[in-house]
Amino acid sequence: MKNNLKTIRNTVWIYFTIFIVSILVLLWFSFGISLESTYKRMKTHDIFEIANYILTDWSEDEFTNDSLDRIAYDNNMCILIQDAYGNRVYSYDMMASNCLIHGFYAADLYKYRAKALSSTTGIYYAEVNNPRFNNNTMLFVMVLGDRTDPSGYIFLNTSLEPLDSTKSIINSQILWISVMLLILGLGISYFLARLIETPIVRITKSAKKMGQGDYSVKFDGRGYTETEALAETLNYAASEISKVDSLRRDLIANISHDLRTPLTMVKAYAEMIRDLSGDNPAKRQEHVNIIIEESDRLAALVNDILDLSKLESGSAEINKTTFSITKKIHEIMGRYTLLSEQKGYNFYVSADYDDDFEIEADVIKIEQVLYNLINNAVNYTGENKNVYITQIIVDETTARIEITDTGKGIEPELLPLIFDRYYRAEKSKREVIGTGLGLSIVKQILKQHNFKFGVRSEINVGSTFWFEVKGRAVHDTEKGVNEND
Ligand code: ADP
Repeated sequence: MKNNLKTIRNTVWIYFTIFIVSILVLLWFSFGISLESTYKRMKTHDIFEIANYILTDWSEDEFTNDSLDRIAYDNNMCILIQDAYGNRVYSYDMMASNCLIHGFYAADLYKYRAKALSSTTGIYYAEVNNPRFNNNTMLFVMVLGDRTDPSGYIFLNTSLEPLDSTKSIINSQILWISVMLLILGLGISYFLARLIETPIVRITKSAKKMGQGDYSVKFDGRGYTETEALAETLNYAASEISKVDSLRRDLIANISHDLRTPLTMVKAYAEMIRDLSGDNPAKRQEHVNIIIEESDRLAALVNDILDLSKLESGSAEINKTTFSITKKIHEIMGRYTLLSEQKGYNFYVSADYDDDFEIEADVIKIEQVLYNLINNAVNYTGENKNVYITQIIVDETTARIEITDTGKGIEPELLPLIFDRYYRAEKSKREVIGTGLGLSIVKQILKQHNFKFGVRSEINVGSTFWFEVKGRAVHDTEKGVNEND
């Protein structure tokens, strides 16, 4: 069943929505959820940096009250430095005595000192609630010098701002951005989908027309290289199908016509024998002969149609045997003696070096090729009734067979067409039965054998049909050896 939901538009929408939702989830996560932990992490990082800075200054004796004041002020922080006995060496109270390390909380400092001393790093830090304002602060204690013999302590304290209001501002911003993104995303994906599907929809419409038998449709794939290539291929397919279609029509028309003519003749002469010539042996004989000739023509036509359809469908297998094409030509020419004696045709057979050329091919099919080409030469050669059959050795593995007539020749623009099924230049009277399928059969057979073939022709001079067979030349010396065997 056709899934109507799986359109390009829906797919683009779905993927775009997934993309936007992913961005939103990331946004919500980094701002909405991890804001607080990121803030705390940054604060801790700052505190550590400041502690290190003080430590360096302290150990290098560069420490001045002014520089510490600056640090405390810049970082909104309270700093207290005590000596080993807990006496104040330096203090800065940024938060006006509201620091945990000053004023009335100072009494608790010994607890934090103890915690720092007991930690392996000599550092203690924690989030501690300031009961006075009930706000969270970050408290940091670092032992100066060795833990077993401390030379003093650094205390740092900074308030942790409540992020609730910031969070709600960001949340409403994100919400706003989310809505905008969704609307924008849907809009963009809609146009994107339309852009993509437009040439496809156009092509589909044309394809439907073609499906209904209109092969003149033009496929238009403008927009993308891929759709343009598709349209081009379809245009090519349409023109090819239209050719095949008109060929098919011609074929049916021609076959029906060619079947009807001999059938009409057979019927007419049979009626003549029945009504008129039945008692006249000479006339009857003549009419019966015509009936036989016409039946032969019918049989030849039907055979050719069958042969061609077998060859074209690929169901005709080739049974290869090794034989001498030279001998085959001579043998076939023997069968034309009658034609030559009775009708005055001259057949000239010649072969290069008088060599035998052995090939591996389907002997019956190659015979058919020779017959078809020689019959055509007989049918189309001119008044002088000359037909030349030549074997040319091209090289050790190739021989070219040429069948030449001295007829009217073939118009150059018709040359590419004559190997097509049922092409006929004109309805001409033939000496030998012709079905209009001869050259198509020749073409199919030679193609099946992978033999090259072609035609050259000159108006009022004649035509030469040729094909090249693959095999080997059997030289005279070799033949001698064979004969002695
Ligand atoms: P047909 O039975 O009509 O000869 P073919 O398939 O053998 O059918 O040939 C197709 C057409 O090619 C012929 O009708 C004719 O117009 C042209 N043709 C073939 N052989 C020759 C030739 N030797 N000289 C001139 N025209 C030829």
